[in-house]
Amino acid sequence: MNKAIFSENFNLNTYTTIKVGGVAEYFAEPRSIDEFYYLIKWSNLHNKRCQIIGAGSNLLINNIFIQGLVICTKKMRSLTIDPYSGIVEAEAGVMLPTLSNSLAKNRLQGGEWAVGIPGTLGGAIYMNAGTGDLSLAKNLVSVKVVNNKTNEKLEIEKKDLNFDYRFSSFQGNNFAIISAKLHFEPNGNLEKLIQTTKNNLKLKTETQPYDQPSFGSVFKNPANYYAAKLIEEMGLKGFKVGGAEISTMHSNFIINNSSASSKDIYELITVIQQKVLQNKGIYLQPEVRMIGFDYPS
Ligand SMILES: Cc1cc2nc3c(=O)[nH]c(=O)nc-3n(C[C@H](O)[C@H](O)[C@H](O)COP(=O)(O)OP(=O)(O)OC[C@H]3O[C@@H](n4cnc5c(N)ncnc54)[C@H](O)[C@@H]3O)c2cc1C
Repeated sequence: MNKAIFSENFNLNTYTTIKVGGVAEYFAEPRSIDEFYYLIKWSNLHNKRCQIIGAGSNLLINNIFIQGLVICTKKMRSLTIDPYSGIVEAEAGVMLPTLSNSLAKNRLQGGEWAVGIPGTLGGAIYMNAGTGDLSLAKNLVSVKVVNNKTNEKLEIEKKDLNFDYRFSSFQGNNFAIISAKLHFEPNGNLEKLIQTTKNNLKLKTETQPYDQPSFGSVFKNPANYYAAKLIEEMGLKGFKVGGAEISTMHSNFIINNSSASSKDIYELITVIQQKVLQNKGIYLQPEVRMIGFDYPS
């Protein structure tokens, strides 16, 4: 394999926003779709498990040896915007803040909410990332993927995919997302779009521990409840396990106060789940995806 895009025994802790992670047997950051495809074919040929990560902003990776190949898409960031039709074609590694700001500058409406989400487009499709009633699925037209078991490439239209609150079909199949086509409303008011986008980012930084290492909301909101409120009602704000702490700013965030291990964070997740289950009878389902634990990756 091309050594320039490939490392062995690679420490992943700087590849997650919460700054913990294990050591990948093989690691690569392809710069193009061809390299990405080549890496997936390589993993199949050598019978190596292949796991895709984006910006690692929704990921808890156990501090263990991760067998197989981990591919990070962050360097696949080609973005084409047609301001007249509103059609956008973007590779999996395009960051949502870049996308959101570029849409506003091109007078396209509908992506202003995404400015404060520090993930890639691929990760956002996989997670159906969003805020309030808005989520990525709304503007999706189609997704280009490669089946990471058979190497088959295909383009899937939105109508053939399922999306729900922080859920997409990709959480239950073997597809690696290569790129996507999206549609946004053209001819918006430039000043208004730029201002709304700025305001959305400001709101995020004022209400969430945005500058501290975290992976965003830890748990999904259960039907008719807010996870943050349930955690707060348990008196857990500021509660710590080792270097992992429940944020005092937003109770559904765990922050790494510089010395947390993956185990500390995992244990804190379990403590929260147990307390809320015992006292409220509600099971909090993690939104965060896990690699190297018993939870689904
Ligand atoms: C400060 C902060 C604020 C946040 N705010 C929000 C918010 O408001 N709303 C929200 O929804 N989320 C939020 N998040 C969570 C996170 O940013 C989103 O879930 C984001 O979409 C994850 O993208 P990522 O590239 O970081 O994915 P990763 O964390 O790298 O991966 C997440 C999952 O997607 C899979 N995946 C990633 N890329 C691909 C690909 N190309 N093909 C197949 N599978 C892939 C991974 O295997 C993994 O299972 C926040 C996180 C932080 C740190």
